[in-house]
Amino acid sequence: METKRLFKVFGLFVMALAMSITVNAQSGQRKPTVYVLATGGTIAGQGATEVAAGYKAGSITVDQLLSAVPEIKDIANIQAEQVANIGSQDMNDEVWLKLAKRINELFAANNADAIVITHGTDTQEETAYFLNLTVKYNKPVILVGSMRPSTAISADGPRNIYNAVATAVAPESVGKGVMVVMDDKILGADDLAKTNTLSVGTFQNPNYGELGIVYNGKPIYSRQPMKRHTVNSEFDVTKLDKLPRVEIILSYSNATSLFVDAAVKAHVKGIVTAGVGNGNITTDMQNALEKAVKHHKIAVVRSSRIMTGPTAQWDEVDDDKLNFSASWFNNPYRSRVLLMLALTKTTDYKEIQRMFSEY
Ligand code: GLU
Repeated sequence: METKRLFKVFGLFVMALAMSITVNAQSGQRKPTVYVLATGGTIAGQGATEVAAGYKAGSITVDQLLSAVPEIKDIANIQAEQVANIGSQDMNDEVWLKLAKRINELFAANNADAIVITHGTDTQEETAYFLNLTVKYNKPVILVGSMRPSTAISADGPRNIYNAVATAVAPESVGKGVMVVMDDKILGADDLAKTNTLSVGTFQNPNYGELGIVYNGKPIYSRQPMKRHTVNSEFDVTKLDKLPRVEIILSYSNATSLFVDAAVKAHVKGIVTAGVGNGNITTDMQNALEKAVKHHKIAVVRSSRIMTGPTAQWDEVDDDKLNFSASWFNNPYRSRVLLMLALTKTTDYKEIQRMFSEY
């Protein structure tokens, strides 16, 4: 009788053990797959010493980069690809199109649950916004960088990468558009700005406030993105191998028509102005822009050099009379991205204005 009971207890123990192994194996299998697409930047930079101010961006590979954060393998099945290895001051349409196409391809084939892109911080806001408008899936796409090179004391890259992967695998990160995770903050691509040349807390959403924070390896969201994005966007870059040329022209006291004339000569398709105040431009420059629209069919979008607030339609400038569009909450850098994409679909300033009101 005793022996029988012993066997029963032992049997139950073996069953429980087998079940726990199965669950563990299953949960191991259930780890989300995150593709890390590396493009370079300070996060992949190396200095001569741990305190050296000078360093070379984009000099270590994605595998070296990820080896500094082995903990990410506990939360995700990591696949790494080196898309480029450049300082992001050299970011370009070719890499943008490559990234957008690769991300859409990975999601279409159901190969990835989320994407993390390592990127220099200089132009991170432009790439984030471009992808926000061209990735067709709701799954998380997160850009991450660092302000200190990988060799510096207190390098911020490894922590930022961990937080980016942790945010990417969280179910609540689905449907939030493209995001940037840096300095324990989660920022939306629709209002992203680098605000400090050196500080690790450089990124902000200056108009709308950050989307959330990362605390103890978990995202905590406090709001939704404000604008249409990703899956809802009307732009399709699948078949494109280049984008329409759009330049940004700054306005300031005494600004002349010089750069507008040069842009017209260079046959640009669009001009974004970084105007003063609510997108105002000197009379000289405005007259040249009016001619650019009338005689050369160049699309003009008024934006502002001011960090916050909208460039509103019909304030001091009569946009309808001039056939200009106003950028609303898009700063000149995001406006350039949106105008490039808008020009792949239309040249009608009213239709372009609609896009600027929605994205
Ligand atoms: N110029 C570098 C870049 O954007 C430095 C900025 C950074 O990554 O922090 O790639």
